[in-house]
Amino acid sequence: MSIAGRIAQIRETIRTESPHPERVRLIAVSKKQNPERMLEAARAGILDFGENRIQEALDKFSRESFPGITRHFIGYLQSNKVNKCLQNFNWLHSLQTEKLAGLIADSEIPLLCLIEVNISGESSKSGIRPEALRTFVKQLSAYRGLQVRGLMGIAPQSEETAIRRSFKLLRELAQDCRSLETENLRFEELSMGMSGDYRIALQEGASMLRIGTAIFGPREN
Ligand SMILES: *Cc1c(COP(=O)(O)O)cnc(C)c1O
Repeated sequence: MSIAGRIAQIRETIRTESPHPERVRLIAVSKKQNPERMLEAARAGILDFGENRIQEALDKFSRESFPGITRHFIGYLQSNKVNKCLQNFNWLHSLQTEKLAGLIADSEIPLLCLIEVNISGESSKSGIRPEALRTFVKQLSAYRGLQVRGLMGIAPQSEETAIRRSFKLLRELAQDCRSLETENLRFEELSMGMSGDYRIALQEGASMLRIGTAIFGPREN
């Protein structure tokens, strides 16, 4: 199937499975995909692209112009790359340290952030532990320039019940964080769901899907 055909299929799933389809943003994760494929996705109406390596993203974004698109950084962000991220991306999905929060808050350039939460139940995975989330959010309220809009999570590679449980957990955590909301810290967005599990994520209330291989096919190495 063509890239446009796969995107149309995912859009149809959004329409049938999400409780609020009009609020769902489909982010095409273009890491290790070439710019020609990205253009094909853009022509099929994709307005959001996700990348997890700064340098790779800059190389590709400079080869083709993608007018009007929103750029999401979904990988681990080292503090020495924060400026490049600020200059080239609109969203960061992986905020998980106060150090990073401070650097972003001090900048003049806006970067909308999601807090990455470890919903997998595996201690080896990245993200704030669910038990530590409220404390982290309270610490973030000291950084006045920081703009938080929600939570991001990656489900375990497991069977459906465990995946669903982890997405439900993320939704409940966001709900719980609402009592800590300020003008700058808001918990409207749920970035969850990838190629293998986005249908479940939609049913559990995802507002941002991060989908790579189900749009583009296998990644190049
Ligand atoms: C690669 C990646 C995705 C997309 O993965 P697919 O399985 O190809 O859809 C989503 N989120 C993050 C954080 C990723 O690194």
